[in-house]
Amino acid sequence: MQKCEKCNTQFGWSKIYKSFFGWVYRPIKCDKCSTEHNITIPGRIIFVSLTIIPMLIFTNFLSPFNDFFVTLVIGLAILIIGSLFTPYFVKYKEEL
Ligand SMILES: [Zn+2]
Repeated sequence: MQKCEKCNTQFGWSKIYKSFFGWVYRPIKCDKCSTEHNITIPGRIIFVSLTIIPMLIFTNFLSPFNDFFVTLVIGLAILIIGSLFTPYFVKYKEEL
């Protein structure tokens, strides 16, 4: 998981997860040295491929349900479950 590029402090899962809220990628601020970190472009691609892409693939191609509402609920569940793993993979870089 992401560490501070300056002082090597480990960022917590919830700290990284919270930075995704509202679909605005907010910078993460290190508790120790206050250095701000921004999500990288590959980080954004990883985020989308763990959340939006699996949801779209499921709702458009893989859903065994004819019911649109059921498909949508499961699609959203996939998005939420996928997002739980994103703090482990998404990369941040020190803001210069
Ligand atoms: Zn730091």
